[in-house]
Amino acid sequence: MTESQSADLPLRDELKGQEPYGAPQLTVRAMLNVNETTYDVPSEVVDAITQEVRSAAQTLNRYPDREFTTLRRKLAAYLTGESGADIEAPQIWAGNGSNEVMQHILQAFAGPGRSVMSFPPTYSMYPLYAQGVYSRYIAGTRSANFTQDPHDVATQIRERRPHVVILCSPNNPTGTALSLEVVEAAYEAALESATMVVVDEAYGEFRQPGTPSALTMLADRPRLIVTRTMSKAFALAGGRLGYLAAAPAVTDALRLVRLPYHLSAITQAAANAALDNAQTLMANVQRIKQQRDRLVTELTAMGLHPYPSDANFVLFGGLQDAHAAWQHLLDDGILIREVAIEGHLRVTAGTETETTDFLDSLRSHLNG
Ligand code: PMP
Repeated sequence: MTESQSADLPLRDELKGQEPYGAPQLTVRAMLNVNETTYDVPSEVVDAITQEVRSAAQTLNRYPDREFTTLRRKLAAYLTGESGADIEAPQIWAGNGSNEVMQHILQAFAGPGRSVMSFPPTYSMYPLYAQGVYSRYIAGTRSANFTQDPHDVATQIRERRPHVVILCSPNNPTGTALSLEVVEAAYEAALESATMVVVDEAYGEFRQPGTPSALTMLADRPRLIVTRTMSKAFALAGGRLGYLAAAPAVTDALRLVRLPYHLSAITQAAANAALDNAQTLMANVQRIKQQRDRLVTELTAMGLHPYPSDANFVLFGGLQDAHAAWQHLLDDGILIREVAIEGHLRVTAGTETETTDFLDSLRSHLNG
């Protein structure tokens, strides 16, 4: 029981007895549990961020640019280069992590008396976002091996008629990427029921070659939103900058629910500097993808069942006692993620050394 529960506060009824969301934050030799980039921020990027933040500090007596004009321009240019889609600054919205961006979406398009649908196993914050805005959460279902079939997704949306549907691609915790056919089928079904379609591409930069981003579908689809974050590929989890691209009318609607000056001048400065150095930061994405593919190969060789991954982590099953394996790894200084799927664990692809340490420790557990 948390302190707030025992203090007998007049808490909202639906929050009573609940635990706050959050994975363990432990300092051990390999922290592979929350899908961060485990490489240090390169020193030239640290210098660039420091310089921008220093300059922002000189005008901290003033409120920040509430339209984050420079940041929007840089994010639009980055997305255009990354996806091949033509994205303009008025299509961009940003917040303190894609968590906040998603909250803005639900505040504007869900809310009391409305519903939010996603397809578990998926990012476990989705039901909590829904609860936070007093919306009903609808759990859809997936096909074999956690994939999603266009016809099945469309049928579920037609039957349930949610106000907002969230597709997660690549999906956390399974690593599954969606083909554009799935997004297209979801969108067509959603149009019939006035549903907004959100594609959460928090892990978009790690997708396998040949998998296009849903950003390429934005043109002429006014009810489609694609969310991204700088927490993963940009190695900026501590900077808290998430964003989305959508039709300008959508970003306009989100202004109605944001708090005044929600993006601090310090946050904007750090993100601008990171975007100026995107190429340097992205150099590690390729290395992480190699370790991700290596995890799949080596876990298979160990007789376990990893799922194909387009993200910077791998879900694997085939464990007799997942908690015992997790504990063995932690005792060895390697922290990975327990998930709500029996016999399964999720591991973030780290550096080559971290990956080797993880595989060696797991092997010794299985042979032990
Ligand atoms: N979406 C997904 C699928 C995630 O896994 C995460 C973080 N684990 C987020 C969104 C939120 O990330 P952030 O708020 O750091 O941008």
